[in-house]
Amino acid sequence: MPKPKIELETKIKPYNQHSREGNSVMLRYFIWTIGCQMNKAESQQIAGYLDSIGHQAATTFSNADLVILNTCVVRQSAENKVLGTLGLLKGLKNKHPNLQILVTGCLVDSDTQELKRRFPQVNLLFKPGDFQELIAWGQKQGIPIEQRLLRGVYPERDSSVVPISSGLPQNDKKRRARNDTWMPPSPCAFIPIIQGCDNFCSYCIVPYRRGREVSRPLGEIMCEVEELVERGIKEVTLLGQNVDSYGHDLPGHPDLADLLNELSNIDGLVRIRFLTNHPKDMSLKLIDTVATLNKVCEHLELPVQAGDDDILRAMRRGYTMERYRELVHTIRRKIPRISLSTDIIVGFPGETEEQFEHSLSLLKEMRFDVVHVAAYSPRPGTIAWREYKDDIPSEVKKERLNKIEGLQVAVASEINSQLQGRQVEVLVEGKKKGKWFGRTRSNKLVFFEDAGDWLGQLARIQIEKTSPWSLVGEVKK
Ligand code: SAM
Ligand code: SF4
Repeated sequence: MPKPKIELETKIKPYNQHSREGNSVMLRYFIWTIGCQMNKAESQQIAGYLDSIGHQAATTFSNADLVILNTCVVRQSAENKVLGTLGLLKGLKNKHPNLQILVTGCLVDSDTQELKRRFPQVNLLFKPGDFQELIAWGQKQGIPIEQRLLRGVYPERDSSVVPISSGLPQNDKKRRARNDTWMPPSPCAFIPIIQGCDNFCSYCIVPYRRGREVSRPLGEIMCEVEELVERGIKEVTLLGQNVDSYGHDLPGHPDLADLLNELSNIDGLVRIRFLTNHPKDMSLKLIDTVATLNKVCEHLELPVQAGDDDILRAMRRGYTMERYRELVHTIRRKIPRISLSTDIIVGFPGETEEQFEHSLSLLKEMRFDVVHVAAYSPRPGTIAWREYKDDIPSEVKKERLNKIEGLQVAVASEINSQLQGRQVEVLVEGKKKGKWFGRTRSNKLVFFEDAGDWLGQLARIQIEKTSPWSLVGEVKK
């Protein structure tokens, strides 16, 4: 999300001076989000509920009464952005003391007292997904934040329930106008299915901030998706730090494959995606399910993190390169058109040139469609931070990162060029700079120009131009 413009001079009206329908309070809210899809989904959820009870999205920090920062501290670079934004808001709050600032996401650890001391400008800190805290705070302020924001409140189908916010608000111009400032309407929605992570990879802060795994009941997810589909949603992406462990903590132990089977029966739902998989947990049953269910897209996120067994062991990933290779071969054999994305970390403590070369040759061998590469960033409190010295100089990390990015540009360019002249099916998500855009089933971004209204439609596009990052084509009517 682009950094919002800070207009310190703009006069803001304190939230308690806005009113609607008698005594209830109308807020102008601004949600600032960085980090993973889970953060984006949770921000959409909060925005949706604030909208549904009559509050309005503001266009900048400076014309908001309520600012919510949804933060990420997975790497130092993300944490720096969060700290910078908190600094800017401190200035804004000095000018406008009635501004309410709420902070959630992975910055919030269990020592909220210390965070309150560091950031006195913040009115409330609540853990990622801990909407109970947000509701209690809203009630104290006289701001009616909906109880329905809590998880587990969709036990049966009820058409009055407004589900998570990202629905395409068809035939509802008022709602669409309000949401436009926050997020354009889209036919795609993110659905968190499992919170937290039990894995404790040695470099990763997420389990310390998001807690242990908690799956949402299958019936609750079904109700939510049915509601979204009724409102025009065509594609859902199921989210979890490790979607492969979905259901282990639920009665009867339904798994992700069971959930995909159930979701596939929803009429009107066209596409299903899910992320992120963990190579140690991805099952044959799941691969077979993806191979057989038409609605499940041919795209998987399978983070490898390193191409060397010793580094994988130090990362505590729980698999070897042999197991990873076997898994990819099985996936490609059973789902020949699969597109694969991966994540990789360079400069993990002690990573030798030779070990880095193993990562590079793995990428050459596997030819992933997309590679997200990150330089190792020590995160206080993690196992790697405690046990290993961050001994790879930052220039070396940068050099390794550049090598991987350079290789991947060449690989993705070759893979995508094979689509030149071919027809693909695109679910149209919106318009950017006068061009429609959407994604193929294999998650390739496609642009095309056409005078028709394609939002939320499936378009057949003949690909005319390709690049490592996106494709351009023409509609075939
Ligand atoms: N659960 C997913 C998995 O198992 O790969 C990914 C979740 S993690 C929040 C997203 C990505 O951030 C990871 O895949 C990893 O590459 C990167 N990451 C996490 N901790 C990191 C660190 N300390 N330094 C650099 N990159 C990191
Ligand atoms: Fe972090 Fe590992 Fe959990 Fe992914 S699986 S969130 S990298 S601890």
